Amino acid sequence: MIPPTPYLPMSQLARKSHLPHRNLWLGLLGALLLSSPAHAHPHSLSDRPERPEQDYSTVEPDDRAIAATGAATLLEDIEIKDEGFILHTRGQQAQFDLKPSSDRSWVSIDLPGVSLSPELARRTLNVERWGVERLQVIQLSSTPPMTRVTLSLDESAPNWQARSNGSGQVLVWPEGSAPPNLARGQSGLIRIEGVELSEDGSRVTIKADGPIAYTSNWDRHTSAYMLTIYSAELAWQGSLTRPNSDSPVLWVRGSQEDPETVAIRILPAAGAQIGNITQNGDREISLQLSRGPTPSNLPNANNRPPIPTAPPAEKPSSVPQVPQTRLAIVIDPGHGGRDPGAVGIGGLQEKDVVLDISEKVAQILEQNGVTVVMTRQDDRTLDLAPRTQLANRVNADLFVSIHANAVAGKRPEVNGLETFYYSSGRELAGYIQNSMIQSFNTMPNRGVKQARFYVLRHTRMPAVLVETGFVTGRDDSRILADPAQRSRMAEAIARGILNYVRDRR
Ligand SMILES: [Zn+2]
Repeated sequence: MIPPTPYLPMSQLARKSHLPHRNLWLGLLGALLLSSPAHAHPHSLSDRPERPEQDYSTVEPDDRAIAATGAATLLEDIEIKDEGFILHTRGQQAQFDLKPSSDRSWVSIDLPGVSLSPELARRTLNVERWGVERLQVIQLSSTPPMTRVTLSLDESAPNWQARSNGSGQVLVWPEGSAPPNLARGQSGLIRIEGVELSEDGSRVTIKADGPIAYTSNWDRHTSAYMLTIYSAELAWQGSLTRPNSDSPVLWVRGSQEDPETVAIRILPAAGAQIGNITQNGDREISLQLSRGPTPSNLPNANNRPPIPTAPPAEKPSSVPQVPQTRLAIVIDPGHGGRDPGAVGIGGLQEKDVVLDISEKVAQILEQNGVTVVMTRQDDRTLDLAPRTQLANRVNADLFVSIHANAVAGKRPEVNGLETFYYSSGRELAGYIQNSMIQSFNTMPNRGVKQARFYVLRHTRMPAVLVETGFVTGRDDSRILADPAQRSRMAEAIARGILNYVRDRR
């Protein structure tokens, strides 16, 4: 953080200044900045610039000056997206300091050590949304460089937040919504790096650089068996043909179906049978095929493809069985990667606790015939939008986001379980909450509540957000730190889900 600087609309000064020498002018600016009252903001000045171009430059950025300082960081572009702004910088990692004015009529994002690109300084940026009346970019000083982005806001404007993504972008977006999406490869997509066919042609292996979330079905257009892989980009170019005439596979082809979806199509030979899909670690899946005895097994578009079965495992006896048609449930472990979520007693991190519980919930659901898609299976940074997009794309029946709670200040006496819904998830929330309270009858019941969480509002299926206790709570943190108790918690959540499913049939 840098010390707070009182705001002054620099364009006003620039326009009125007739000082001939830039350094003198800068010195005066500095003095004015320091003496300017902290409450000054654009709305207090009636004299606004008439020409929008004048909003964007005070110190005229100089290409030569930038080239001379090798270590300089440059603000190259401000991208206006549907979700907010992306400040693109080049050079060293940009720090930022976002400060709202006390009357909330403007927000400044200061970028110490950052120069303003001359090209950007000349551009006019039209925002016209989120209650942003004007967006100004100005370079406050050149030695050391300091660039400021200012949003002038009307009364309807939301609060703003910013985050550096560690690769040269600062994301700026309204609170309570998802941050702007970056281009492919920076937004948590996995890369499909290779597809291999075994020597006898009976096994197709897909390799990625991250956890693979997929569904499988028959493709009506090609009569091929298709694995649809979500939040993925195809780095493997090409196709494979059968290695010999006995191969149960005729060909394998990969394609990028849309910017976030990859399809791998596998055309079986006449009579070949599709076997299980197995997961070899979380970055590799294999589809087994075999030559069938008769041509009657020829796949056609009306066939329901065989369903990959979960590995055999001991089923917890207290969990009800769910037969009949297969459900798809998205389990969403909160936070991850650079976002630890709540951090509690003994450094207990929400992202670790909820990943462990989520994996156990998924395992129990799979043992009960449910197809589970997890939004993350490792400690990775994942925005909110990809989580809900995944759930919507796989057409999940239910969405369950798993979190742990925290309370501000040192208040270890705050403990308990609560479950949130926004609209259609109310009943499911009740089942899960009841089940958790049954298993953990010493934990306070904070009840089922309605909340406008992003993941609850942007999912098209019944969706809930489970708070599995307080990592900051004296009692809860002991439970959440204990792997055996986390297993019990997972079992309670899974039982709630399965009871809900059973009662709804
Ligand atoms: Zn959380």
